[in-house]
Amino acid sequence: MKIPSPVGEVKKGSPALSRYVINTHHLLLSDELEDVGRSSIVVEDGFIVDIMDKWVSNSDFVFDAVLPLPVNTHVHLSDLRIPEACIGLDLPGYVGRKGLKHPLIRLYREPLLTSVSLNKLSILYSVGDYQELPDTCSTYESSLESIDTIYIGLSRPLDWWSTGMDELLSIASNCGGIGVSNPTVIPSWMLEPLARVSRLYTVSAHVSETRKMERVGGLHYLLDHGVRLKHVVHGVFLEDWELRRLADEDLILVINPRSNLWFTGRIADVEKLLMYGGEFAFGTDNAGCFSLDVMVEADLFYSLKPHISPKQIIKGLTINGAYALGLEPKTIELGREAYMLGVVLGLPGGRTWNINASIVKRAPYSPKMVVFKKDSIYIFDRIRQM
Ligand SMILES: [Zn+2]
Repeated sequence: MKIPSPVGEVKKGSPALSRYVINTHHLLLSDELEDVGRSSIVVEDGFIVDIMDKWVSNSDFVFDAVLPLPVNTHVHLSDLRIPEACIGLDLPGYVGRKGLKHPLIRLYREPLLTSVSLNKLSILYSVGDYQELPDTCSTYESSLESIDTIYIGLSRPLDWWSTGMDELLSIASNCGGIGVSNPTVIPSWMLEPLARVSRLYTVSAHVSETRKMERVGGLHYLLDHGVRLKHVVHGVFLEDWELRRLADEDLILVINPRSNLWFTGRIADVEKLLMYGGEFAFGTDNAGCFSLDVMVEADLFYSLKPHISPKQIIKGLTINGAYALGLEPKTIELGREAYMLGVVLGLPGGRTWNINASIVKRAPYSPKMVVFKKDSIYIFDRIRQM
């Protein structure tokens, strides 16, 4: 039975979804993301019950490629409430402690998310939100729960100088973790409590986004005091030995190409990070105020770094993003829950010289994408909208 497909409509638990079959030209299987080619996938009651190396007749969907769902590892969802307030400002002027953003997000609270933003977030397995206002985390979480996207709020005390262990724990448990916007504003006596929280929850930090942040050494300030970071964000000006330290400590570097270019005109030295065995993931950061599409970030990144393998970029978008937020990646494997992204890429008969490059370059502009999350299916059909 075909599933009705108004754009973005959520279908939960209807009889039509108890079983569906997908034919695809390319399938990125398991955590290896190995393309096993022409395949069919059978899903029953939200679980992958069969994967065959051939197409079956009467499938419900046909795609060029099926891959794990992307993760937007670093956003500031508060930006969405004050559209274009960032225009014409530099980084301190917009997000600094005296920046325009902070009074505005207290002034304009509702709505936290528009239906368009929610629709965009439904493509994701998870989103990591640096949330400036910890008391809004539960509202974001329930909004995203309605679209089966896991919300990891990485928030922080409003004032590091007048907080304590209890407040840190309360924020981390209500939101999902702690996101340190500027490590060196944390007074030294709060590092030990933060280190303890980092053993229980995801803790992350902006590091080396600007030359000034690199000079003051926020990364080392945290690591040398025992704070276990799951990931760090930006790292634009990190030096050789620091990139090696990220790799040695299994710290994922979250890059935000549009935002990094916007504010500093460059992005991190990812080639060197990879050389040391490190890993990276993607976020939209403040550029997310215009578009939350993390696949656009991957496309831009590949244009800037054409020698990095597109398969590595897809790993960054999917598997690494999940690990960076402290989640188990939802890879595509027999017997596992069905979390998948099916994309139509416009490939002739599914033919391509490099399927990973086709996904990175074409998926952001795909005429049709379908998101599968167990028994929920979200259909994005740009052709039908025209
Ligand atoms: Zn940020």
